[in-house]
Amino acid sequence: MSKAMISQLKGIVGENNILESPSEMAKYLKGSGKPTAVVLPGNTAEVSAIVQWANKQKVKISVSGLVADTEGLNEGIVLVMTRMNRVLEMDHENLVAVVESGILHKEFLEKVVEARLNFPPEPYDVETSSMGGCFAIGDSDSKSFQFGPTRTFLLGFEMVLPTGEIMDIGNKCIKNVSGYDFIHFAVGSQGTMGIFTKLIVKLLPSPEAKKAVIARFSSIHKANATFSTLIKRNILPTRINLLNTTLAQEIQPGEGQLVMVDLEGFTESSKTMANEIAAVMTLGGASEVKIVEEAQEYENLINGWLKVRAMLNGRPESVLEFAVGPLKMGQALTQLEAFTGDLGSYSGVVVEGLLGYVRIALPEGTDKESLAVKVNKMAMSLGGNVTGLLGTRLRTEVYNDAEMWSETTGLLNEIRRQFDPNGILNPGVILK
Ligand SMILES: Cc1cc2nc3c(=O)[nH]c(=O)nc-3n(C[C@H](O)[C@H](O)[C@H](O)COP(=O)(O)OP(=O)(O)OC[C@H]3O[C@@H](n4cnc5c(N)ncnc54)[C@H](O)[C@@H]3O)c2cc1C
Repeated sequence: MSKAMISQLKGIVGENNILESPSEMAKYLKGSGKPTAVVLPGNTAEVSAIVQWANKQKVKISVSGLVADTEGLNEGIVLVMTRMNRVLEMDHENLVAVVESGILHKEFLEKVVEARLNFPPEPYDVETSSMGGCFAIGDSDSKSFQFGPTRTFLLGFEMVLPTGEIMDIGNKCIKNVSGYDFIHFAVGSQGTMGIFTKLIVKLLPSPEAKKAVIARFSSIHKANATFSTLIKRNILPTRINLLNTTLAQEIQPGEGQLVMVDLEGFTESSKTMANEIAAVMTLGGASEVKIVEEAQEYENLINGWLKVRAMLNGRPESVLEFAVGPLKMGQALTQLEAFTGDLGSYSGVVVEGLLGYVRIALPEGTDKESLAVKVNKMAMSLGGNVTGLLGTRLRTEVYNDAEMWSETTGLLNEIRRQFDPNGILNPGVILK
């Protein structure tokens, strides 16, 4: 990219908001691509001007909350949204916040808690995820059974389209779409349909009480059997999670699989529920069953859970994950062990019971691809599949419906081309 082009960009965002030296850029980048500059826009007009400039110059842009994936980006620019981090409105009456998209999830959550409100979605990378990134991916997490996945919380947005035009869509009402739902089509589009600049976010009242029930089990299967009992009895707390013995050490020293049942709700009803859950766990063979009510102990437990979950997320190449209906988990775990051997000896196993979701850290030397094919077939036979993008591809392989898949991706790519005729936004995001 020429010096003249860089000065044009400086003209848009100011001298100080363009980084060109590899050492300055490093903290904003991941992946093997080599962008020419990191650009830090400060408002929607600047984002729009950058995108218009990029169209004229045929420069590619990779967008990010804080740390950008440079895949497929050589010579292009990285747009880091972190300066656009304001909460523009915290509307108690309508239970809605309006925020700029570069605000970090954790900073937003602090403001929400200060306002005595609640925003349940909880991305894996709680330290670095931005609100724009959460909606651009369409996360789900172990609270999604009770509250719905992250997309549920998006009521509208302002977006700079790949041509530079600014789209404003949605409002503070839940009932705000009839017909095609572009608001939620944009969720999960990973920055290919446009760049979120503002978000209208649904909030909830703050829960009156937070409690947890913890227990130890001698096996994952015994623990899971109690999860099924709870679900069959319609005892549906906020989350029911399990960490295997090795991971549990990160939170609490002790023997056995650690089960953590989290309850957000009203004081009296959550007390009754916690007692019921403790009784089910005890009858199911748990030891060290405890109801955690003290605020600091509860916070430590949840923070420990978030830390361990992020640790597993940090090594995706050696992690396999799948989802089935929650009540199919018993069958899934038994069949999984036919491929993996005793899961008790694995260094990392996480079960998110209400999501029917399992994550395992694979021992070194495991052939992940061939294991994934087997696990995918198993999970599909129970109505699920391995998750993430790998899941889409494996699902196609298992069904042998490559033709249908290429039709579908062809249509989606056509829509993408209509939005982004010069193909400038997020070249690393490829449907495959
Ligand atoms: C396919 C996939 C599935 C995932 N599923 C989950 C999940 O279910 N649960 C979970 O907790 N985590 C999931 N993650 C991890 C997820 O990336 C993080 O949890 C987090 O939400 C991303 O936030 P971020 O700010 O770090 O985003 P980044 O890593 O910066 O960006 C993520 C994607 O969003 C785009 N993006 C970022 N900001 C904007 C913006 N303002 N406008 C438009 N696009 C933008 C980026 O271009 C990129 O494509 C998933 C990641 C991927 C790639």
